Amino acid sequence: MTTTADIQALIREIPDFPQPGILFRDITTLLKDADGLKASIDLMAEQAVQYQPDCIIGIESRGFIFGMPLAYQLGLSFIPVRKPGKLPAAVHQVSYDLEYGQDSLEIHQDALQPHHRPLIVDDLLATGGTAAAAAQLVQKTGATIAGFSFLIELTDLPGRQKLPEGIPVNALISY
Ligand code: 5GP
Repeated sequence: MTTTADIQALIREIPDFPQPGILFRDITTLLKDADGLKASIDLMAEQAVQYQPDCIIGIESRGFIFGMPLAYQLGLSFIPVRKPGKLPAAVHQVSYDLEYGQDSLEIHQDALQPHHRPLIVDDLLATGGTAAAAAQLVQKTGATIAGFSFLIELTDLPGRQKLPEGIPVNALISY
C-alpha cells in the first residue's frame, strides 16, 4: 500500500526556483510514478467525499492535474478556474496580490448555480492567495463551497487564514 509518506518521498525539492530563496515542491516526480499518482488521487478522493461536494473546481494549471481525476473518481462534474483571457464565454474575474504585482483568475459565469457545492482543488496551498481568489469567484456565482482539497500545504505560511472561515480544508501532505 502506498502511504502519504511514500507520496511525500516522491515529491522533489528544487532550491531557488522560480526565484532565489524559494524551495519549490516539484510534483512531476510524483506524477511519473504510477503507484504514487494513483494513491494521491485515491487518498484525496477518500477525504473529499466527506465534504459532500457535487462538483469539482480545478485551479489552472496543476489544480487540473488533480481535480479532473478526482471528479472522475467521485462521479462528479469538473469546472476549470483559469488565468485571464482563456475562457471563451462571459466570466467573473477576481484579482489578487502576488509578492510582486497582481494576478487574476476567471470562471465562466454560467459554470455554477446557487444550489451547487463545489470542492476547490489545487496541488499546493502556500500563501493562500490563489485559493482565496478561487473562493471569491465561487461566491460571485452564489454557490456554497463544500471544501478545499490540496495535495500539499506549506504550514509555515498562513494560507488557511486567507480562506473563508468555517469551510473545511484538507491537505494530504504538510511541510
Ligand atoms: P499561493 O497562492 O497559495 O501562495 O500559491 C499556491 C499556488 O502557487 C498554487 O496554484 C501552486 O500550484 C503554486 N505554487 C506555489 N509554490 C509552489 C511549489 O513549491 N510547488 C508547486 N508545485 N506549486 C507551487
